Amino acid sequence: MLNDQDRIFTNIYGMHDRSLKGAQMRGHWDGTAKILQNGRGWIIDQMKASGLRGRGGAGFPTGLKWSFMPKESDGRPSYLVVNADESEPGTCKDREIMRHDPHTLIEGCLIASYAMQAHACYIYIRGEYIREREALQAAIDECYEAGLIGKNACKSGYDFDLYLSHGAGAYICGEETALLESLEGKKGMPRMKPPFPAGAGLYGCPTTVNNVESIAVVPTILRRGPEWFSSFGRPNNAGTKLFAISGHVNNPCVVEEAMSITFEELIEKHCGGIRGGWDNLKAVIPGGSSVPMIRGEHMRDAIMDFDYLREQRSGLGTAAVIVMDQSTDIIKAIWRLSSFYKHESCGQCTPCREGTGWMMRVMDRLVRGDAEVEEIDMLLDVTKQVEGHTICALGDAAAWPIQGLIRNFRDEIEDRIKHKRTGKVMSVAAE
Ligand code: SF4
Repeated sequence: MLNDQDRIFTNIYGMHDRSLKGAQMRGHWDGTAKILQNGRGWIIDQMKASGLRGRGGAGFPTGLKWSFMPKESDGRPSYLVVNADESEPGTCKDREIMRHDPHTLIEGCLIASYAMQAHACYIYIRGEYIREREALQAAIDECYEAGLIGKNACKSGYDFDLYLSHGAGAYICGEETALLESLEGKKGMPRMKPPFPAGAGLYGCPTTVNNVESIAVVPTILRRGPEWFSSFGRPNNAGTKLFAISGHVNNPCVVEEAMSITFEELIEKHCGGIRGGWDNLKAVIPGGSSVPMIRGEHMRDAIMDFDYLREQRSGLGTAAVIVMDQSTDIIKAIWRLSSFYKHESCGQCTPCREGTGWMMRVMDRLVRGDAEVEEIDMLLDVTKQVEGHTICALGDAAAWPIQGLIRNFRDEIEDRIKHKRTGKVMSVAAE
């Protein structure tokens, strides 16, 4: 288990003073100017050496992403954009950073922006996070007042402005290019790539989009050194990570732990075990609602990191762990996600616009058992036609939960169809 002195987030539960004074007492904003004086090349090299992989879901190496930004400006400014849209069902970790430990993020914004020669950074926060926005804005104001950001930030000679922008509740604005469109004041629709944001992002300028947690861990990594950070987790899966565990555990929580912790340890140490004991565990969605589920019996020894979960044909995603016990109507649970993705599709590409609605309607009938057994394969086939054939990853996100359901619980779907014929349906119909 991670020791308290190795936690990056020192106030994730809001038990301490979240103001600048409190944050400084806990070691944040310590020697920031010195870090900047080491130069942008040094910062990027340290980040690469730390092995940090993006915490927003895709797991792309953060230092490498930063190195894609232009070394010399061609006259256009560079921007850092922080994705605080956190809208994936089950995911609620960045929220805790912003409302309880906002200075970790603000300090990270300054350092990361400096490393990419961005004099302006935008944090795009989801519209529903009202209190989080207030807390973050208050912290930003404190930093301006204290001279930590703004002109000559931290007396480093570097000018840096930080803006907080809020969305209006569309899930798709968490997709990085849709986020940029929205930030520009347009409808939040994903852009075709290439060009990638590092070439032409916000207002057509070089831009890096990073998740809140990815940026918030940066100052501590640079203070304590990349070796310290990479000492946690298996190779290629370095660091500490915020896990958000919800569902049928005795004590749902958000907790910072070492990467590659086993699922059993995570649940036993922090969540008081599975509701009704381990035999009562039915399935787990380990990385936010878009990754395929894994059957309960395969989860107990599971290693919670990017590589292991990918090998299990699932993913770590945002490390939002959704636990479902035997009382779960698993078909209905996935139907609910299908309904969500159908609602959130922006509609600009046909496989997603038509496919998400089609999949949801078949799922709707499967919940009631009102289908033919052959339709299960037909549904699976449609998920394959949506997957990988769309402009953004929402198509995949809609397809994968259904694929996970069919792969793991086909017997349950078939049983329901058969029982419907004999009038013995146990489930609650989709509403
Ligand atoms: Fe829009 Fe869906 Fe296409 Fe993404 S995959 S761009 S959400 S229609």
